[in-house]
Amino acid sequence: MQPLADRHGRVATDLRVSLTDRCNLRCSYCMPAEGLDWLPHEGVLTDDEVVRLVRIGVERLGITEVRFTGGEPLLRRGLSEIVRRTKALDPVPEVSLTTNALGLDKTAGALAEAGLDRVNISLDTVRAEDFATITRRDRLDDVIAGVDAALAAGLNPVKVNAVLLRGINDGQAPELLRWCLDRGVHLRFIEQMPLDPQHVWNRDSMVTAEEILASLESAFTLTPRTAGRGSAPAEEFVVDGGPFTVGVIASVTRPFCGDCDRVRLTADGQVRNCLFARTESDLRTPLRSGADDEELARLWVAAVAGKRAGHGIDDPTFLQPTRPMSAIGG
Ligand code: SAM
Ligand code: SF4
Repeated sequence: MQPLADRHGRVATDLRVSLTDRCNLRCSYCMPAEGLDWLPHEGVLTDDEVVRLVRIGVERLGITEVRFTGGEPLLRRGLSEIVRRTKALDPVPEVSLTTNALGLDKTAGALAEAGLDRVNISLDTVRAEDFATITRRDRLDDVIAGVDAALAAGLNPVKVNAVLLRGINDGQAPELLRWCLDRGVHLRFIEQMPLDPQHVWNRDSMVTAEEILASLESAFTLTPRTAGRGSAPAEEFVVDGGPFTVGVIASVTRPFCGDCDRVRLTADGQVRNCLFARTESDLRTPLRSGADDEELARLWVAAVAGKRAGHGIDDPTFLQPTRPMSAIGG
């Protein structure tokens, strides 16, 4: 076993795999209204290619957690089988999914049966009009049906991820938390990051973790969890004495790059050692040219070794990556 170590003492054990760059929503902070120039079908890794790379990560490189994402991973027809084959690896990794939940009402049972451990559902508001404004689609009821199906299927815990946008849902943090508490799902707020397709993200207008916490504290008593967050990005707070908690992921204002244990694989087979990386390492070409597992593992190790110390959003020379979030894999 060769760890995916970088020159700053970090070891990547958490693999995020994007299964498609396509999506059926158009969240303004992630994708343009007209969509993107989708990757050509032949450019996207096949199910077998995905499973082979995941296997190399798990068997040879110390990957212990695999999260499937996108674009929208539920659009990938072979998802259940990919999950099943990933859970059949030795050692068995934790397998989770990040999804907008459209269609999860029909697939949650099959995914749980295939071995999926956990699901994170993205939901920024429980007001239908604001949902349509943010995602440019009128599908709130379908997402809620997906949340309920995930709970009914026993996927545990079900987490909701929310991004707050100034002037749209920035006043709705307590309302969203109440909704999640009532359903028994765990809520985490994520600061908006400069990964929008239009490159209009602006630090001064971003809703900060501090603001989110102040807004929540107007309605709830929050107590910081004493245990450190470790490599987990969320800072957790106990709500009204427990048992529920709420998380805040302050990627921009309180970066956790020093503890980062993630590595990403895009739908077209590129290793990204950071969301904000300006370069990628191609595994698809060698994979399709007959490279053996050892060679692919070697290329992957080299890709992670060069990971930068931090995302550098605050650096005046910071440049946003060319690919938006949907094409990287969130
Ligand atoms: N389509 C799936 C979904 O929405 O959960 C998976 C992919 S999406 C890119 C993964 C996560 O990234 C979502 O929770 C979304 O809210 C988040 N995201 C997308 N763009 C973002 C941005 N600019 N800043 C912060 N989070 C972002
Ligand atoms: Fe699609 Fe997820 Fe991006 Fe929204 S955040 S556009 S659901 S990929």
